[in-house]
Amino acid sequence: MKNSPIKLFNTAARAKQAFKPLKPGHVGMYNCGPTVYDYAHLGHFRAYTFVDTLKRVLAASGYKLKTVMNITDVGHLTSDADTGEDKMEKAAAEKRMTAWDLAAFYTTDFFDAMDKLNIARPDIVCKATEHIPQMIELIKKLEKKGYTYRTSDGIYYDTYKFKDYAKFAQLNLKQLQEGARVEPNPEKRNPPDFALWKFSPKDSKRQMEWESPWGTGFPGWHIECSAMDMQYLGDRFDIHTGGIDHIPIHHTNEIAQSDAAVGHKVVQYWMHNEFVMVEGSKMSKSRKNFYTMADIEARGVDPLALRYLFLTAHYRSKMNFTWGSLSDAERALSTLRERTMEFKADKKKPQRGDVKKAAAYEKEFMLAVNNDLNTPIALAIMWAAVRDADLAGSAKYELLMKFDDVLGLRLKDVKPARKETLSDEVGKLVKMREQFRKDGKYAEADEVRKRLDSEFGIVIEDTVKGTKWKKK
Ligand code: AMP
Ligand code: ZN
Repeated sequence: MKNSPIKLFNTAARAKQAFKPLKPGHVGMYNCGPTVYDYAHLGHFRAYTFVDTLKRVLAASGYKLKTVMNITDVGHLTSDADTGEDKMEKAAAEKRMTAWDLAAFYTTDFFDAMDKLNIARPDIVCKATEHIPQMIELIKKLEKKGYTYRTSDGIYYDTYKFKDYAKFAQLNLKQLQEGARVEPNPEKRNPPDFALWKFSPKDSKRQMEWESPWGTGFPGWHIECSAMDMQYLGDRFDIHTGGIDHIPIHHTNEIAQSDAAVGHKVVQYWMHNEFVMVEGSKMSKSRKNFYTMADIEARGVDPLALRYLFLTAHYRSKMNFTWGSLSDAERALSTLRERTMEFKADKKKPQRGDVKKAAAYEKEFMLAVNNDLNTPIALAIMWAAVRDADLAGSAKYELLMKFDDVLGLRLKDVKPARKETLSDEVGKLVKMREQFRKDGKYAEADEVRKRLDSEFGIVIEDTVKGTKWKKK
């Protein structure tokens, strides 16, 4: 079946645009990755579920993808204004680890969580610390073209030299100046200027530092993405993603660096996901108001319920996280799995009418996801198909398998629930209680019921079909 054309919201145009790759049939994509100084949290899970959905939608239309994601393991300062400490070195000191061990530990945590959410790994994962020479080369290029200047603490980018600096964030320079937090760097020529290379402090030794033509130090945060995306995807590629916080600073600066260095537009489509919020604030490592995968699992929640929850909202709308909404998502996913099992067991071949109807559902579903990843509508279409009394179970199963290529809920792996068995001791007690009831000894029967509940966590229910039990 020919899919409907893909439309994506391009932040650069503030509009949905028909997706047209640079090379027909191929997509080059770069995803801004995590700064690995703390556990990955729900905000990241949402950001990369969005990325994964985007990849799946493109793959469903037959595109071959090359995807790259960075790991920020150096250079991300605690303030966007290029003052403050390096987040990695600060956390390493607090946790009494080396910055290298800290990065390795939290990178593993990040990918473990990604695996649990069924988020595919990028084709290329690149660490900032392994690309210092490429960053130095890029800074040299910018220096040659006259975009840089030196201060006592580093090499800076002169944002006023880049004509369109304010265009991407759609702010004027005055707004950008006001937006840039007041920071104590009188040496900067213009408030939005940012560091390309920072010098190591004279009075203390950094754990992570490198030689450069300008002096020993470490790279600014933004230069890593410009250097690495162009290294792996070339100086023109299709899609770049990140959270909306990256629009006014990180990506604005990345465009200033990359486009100035090569002399043309590097990225064709910029896509940004909205935040996960908790009680009105962005969930973030620095605010320490975040939930990690361990928090999810400690509550016995299946991580894929979280994926389902993210799919219920459009990636460009804010999502306020509550445990209640996660429980609702878990219930919906569990029903979906049960129905999938039932449909799988249906051995009746789909009839011509079923095939036609299923094709109509599939068309609608693809229309929704190809319309800038409208997953809430896609889920509604999926449920309409699941509930359609005039569609054969076997046809529904085939349809769900196709939908799941995009949704990534692992419906293919759904297995019949394992029949739980009782230990001998508990089994005997259940039987004993039934006998008491048959003999009319209700007080004794109730004693056994209470014991089963308090000692073994077994809840007894008497139904017309006999006694049933379940684990609490
Ligand atoms: P960081 O580790 O903070 O560098 O973030 C990695 C990616 O996750 C970036 O694209 C962020 O924009 C995104 N991100 C961080 N916090 C959230 C959040 N609360 N909601 C959605 N995305 C987020
Ligand atoms: Zn980036």
